[in-house]
Amino acid sequence: MGLRTAEEYKESLRDGRRVYIRGEKVEDVTKHPILGITCDTVGASYELTASDDKEIRDLFAAPHPETSEPINRLFITPRNSEDLRYRTKVIQRSMELTGGLPFGKDIGTDCLNAAFVVAGQMGNKQYQENAMNFLEHLRKNDLHTCGAVTCVKGDRSKEPSKQKHPDYYLHVVDKNSEGIIVKGAKIHITSAPVANEIIVVPTRQMRENEGDYALSFAIPANTEGITFICRAGRGAWSEHEFHGKQPVRELTEAMIVFDNVFVPWDRVFMCGEWQYSMLLAYTFATFHRFTAISYKVPSVEIMAGCAVAMAKYNGLEKVGHIRDKLADVAAYVETLKALTNAAAQDPVMYGDIAVPNPLIANMAKLHFASKYHGFIELIQDIAGGILATTPDQKDWENPDIHDYLEHYLGGSGEYSTLDRLKMVHETMRHVCSHDSAFHEVTTVHAEGSMAAQKMMILVESPLKRYEERAKKAAGIID
Ligand SMILES: Cc1cc2nc3c(=O)[nH]c(=O)nc-3n(C[C@H](O)[C@H](O)[C@H](O)COP(=O)(O)OP(=O)(O)OC[C@H]3O[C@@H](n4cnc5c(N)ncnc54)[C@H](O)[C@@H]3O)c2cc1C
Repeated sequence: MGLRTAEEYKESLRDGRRVYIRGEKVEDVTKHPILGITCDTVGASYELTASDDKEIRDLFAAPHPETSEPINRLFITPRNSEDLRYRTKVIQRSMELTGGLPFGKDIGTDCLNAAFVVAGQMGNKQYQENAMNFLEHLRKNDLHTCGAVTCVKGDRSKEPSKQKHPDYYLHVVDKNSEGIIVKGAKIHITSAPVANEIIVVPTRQMRENEGDYALSFAIPANTEGITFICRAGRGAWSEHEFHGKQPVRELTEAMIVFDNVFVPWDRVFMCGEWQYSMLLAYTFATFHRFTAISYKVPSVEIMAGCAVAMAKYNGLEKVGHIRDKLADVAAYVETLKALTNAAAQDPVMYGDIAVPNPLIANMAKLHFASKYHGFIELIQDIAGGILATTPDQKDWENPDIHDYLEHYLGGSGEYSTLDRLKMVHETMRHVCSHDSAFHEVTTVHAEGSMAAQKMMILVESPLKRYEERAKKAAGIID
């Protein structure tokens, strides 16, 4: 098959999966008012590979390395920095073209690419073959995946084996000649309720007595024993907002409960090899932070554009302190872009797989997360309090009060009041809304906390070299 249409993708979700949202069981996720939007968001990626525009099609689809049949480009395992640059471009252009991130194939392949690296390091031919066969299954059927890494974790200060009960981390409860039986729950999993396949990776390093938790596998979303409990979403645009023509985009996260789920051996990529759990978690995190910094760039560019436009609509673009703030806004965005490109430019090779540069990918993610709230503050500052108090589109359309709004809410005489209000609403969505608060938390936690990035920066940085240079300078060593 190779490439599916958006309709074929949606049809595949009517498969008896067990999904709950807002306390109710969902019979058909494609028809649900919130999950339907998530299906459309993911479905938009299927429209890109079927685009009439050859340039778009050629970016999002690529020839299968052996058969040359067209497949989704995210199913190409990166072998060099060019493949990584393509990955960034695919992710960024999908944001720009669809207005949202059809998130799934990227995180799924972040998991699978890490599984390839680790199976190679273990020298485990069976796991390598399982991962390869599974990748072929994804390529052939053009499947949407989610990456299930984060366990619910219970008491964070305690290791998996020391928790109040054994199920705070996903683990093996039984094995037989056919496969393994697993129990536990993964949480915050993006687009999980509309994925075809769930790919599991351990959330952390496991110790010698925690082999049952050193676990990686892939399983169809409608497998018996799996339940998705979703976060509630925003739903359609409110008719009160100014919102241009862009569709609402939504990628619903869910907790996935694995209630004694059977996984056949040929779908297993790690089971018990606790010594390699760290490498798997670490390699996944590197791939995934690279995905993250790639998809953040287009969204922060729009946010920076709001700051530039609001400065102009307010007539302040030449004022000293506003220009100073715009310089900080631009520096934030361009530093992120430069680090993202550098992470692709200078990969680390594991066998024939190119892993984005771990030090730079972690620095980029830390830069993005640690300075995001300051970046938002700059935009809020430039735009003004109207972000919090703006009248809405319904007020604008009411003839009783329209003229007051037109007369009093103008800014610089160069622009219309309507354009200023439209930009106020666009800016409000990014920095003063339920959605923007969601993204502030997402920035801090998604793709791992800042402490996790600092840990990896310390591991990857040449601290010894710094120390030696200082000791030489001080005359302590030759
Ligand atoms: C919108 C969104 C989407 C996401 N999508 C996915 C996804 O698709 N797949 C996926 O697998 N995950 C996903 N995540 C999960 C994300 O990776 C986690 O939120 C992140 O790893 C933090 O874990 P946590 O939420 O359990 O927070 P916690 O682990 O509870 O962290 C809270 C704080 O405690 C600190 N902390 C935790 N444990 C320790 C410890 N032992 N010692 C010292 N400090 C500690 C952390 O550094 C942090 O500062 C998503 C998260 C969000 C918000």
